[in-house]
Amino acid sequence: MNPRISPLSRFILLLVAIAAAVGAPAAIVAQSTKTATTVTEQSVRKFMEALASDEMRGRGSATADELAAAKYIAAQLRALKVDPAGDNGDYLQTVKFTRRQRGAPADAPGIEMTTTNVLGIIRGSDPKFAKETILLSAHLDHLGIRANLPGDNIFNGADDDASGVTAVLELAQALAAGPKPKRTVVFALFGSEEIGGYGARYFQEHPPVPIDTFVANLEFEMIARPDSAVAADTLWLTGYERSNLGSELARHGAKLVADPHPEENFFRRSDNYVLARKGIIAHTVSSFGLHTDYHRPSDDLSHVDFKHMTDAIASMVEPVRWLVNSDFKPQWNEGGRPLE
Ligand SMILES: [Zn+2]
Repeated sequence: MNPRISPLSRFILLLVAIAAAVGAPAAIVAQSTKTATTVTEQSVRKFMEALASDEMRGRGSATADELAAAKYIAAQLRALKVDPAGDNGDYLQTVKFTRRQRGAPADAPGIEMTTTNVLGIIRGSDPKFAKETILLSAHLDHLGIRANLPGDNIFNGADDDASGVTAVLELAQALAAGPKPKRTVVFALFGSEEIGGYGARYFQEHPPVPIDTFVANLEFEMIARPDSAVAADTLWLTGYERSNLGSELARHGAKLVADPHPEENFFRRSDNYVLARKGIIAHTVSSFGLHTDYHRPSDDLSHVDFKHMTDAIASMVEPVRWLVNSDFKPQWNEGGRPLE
């Protein structure tokens, strides 16, 4: 989750939130599902303990540490028998970009940087529905190491966003192990979200399948702890009121409610927003309860609630399985599509 918020954005979002609160129907009560799942605490711990370990050195955006994390994730997708969808038949998608130095004059040359996305695909089994794509995503980078910081200077990013990457890997495992989805499913783990969504921006210009086949994107961000602002074991969806995706997922068993922190502007603070601006129905699933370890070295494994995380991911398996096999095409509600 990135920290950029402008006062104007806050104001606009507040207006949207007020409009939604006035006009929205009562929250749809989530139904419980009882289905066997491949999501286990043991498996969740395995991914988390690798991604948020000190050895991963905080997966700093556009660094060698980010690349190491990308290679780890690629190896997991391979083991899960998800097909590669990156460059040259591999899982990795290399992204070069130029970034202006903070505080540098406007005419100063930017710095050349390289980041990495990890892309996997399960091609749809139904000839008709295979031309529709569901994108499940998270960001693999975090803040890295701050050498001049005394004490623990590794920003492990266990919640932000090793937890989201773990969710995508668990969903990949569940979908790859079960009957083949009718629709095509792309799994994308983006690089350099924290410094401005560079991985996602490149992805939407260079997608593995045509961009107009994408019917929905769920980004997973910060689900490692419960949010006391919502019911226990409940997740929330950023921009819930902007489309009918969240309410339909809830009707199909997802424990998903509206974002209880609209003033935080989370809809615009993750990679989903890059795709939403392109017109794709794209939201972020989260349970970030505004804890004070956000973007601090203490966002580490010792603060992860593995039971919550395992239950949260497991609760999304059947709703996602429904989505990847249905003919439901989510739509923006009036005024919900971001304009810029
Ligand atoms: Zn973040």
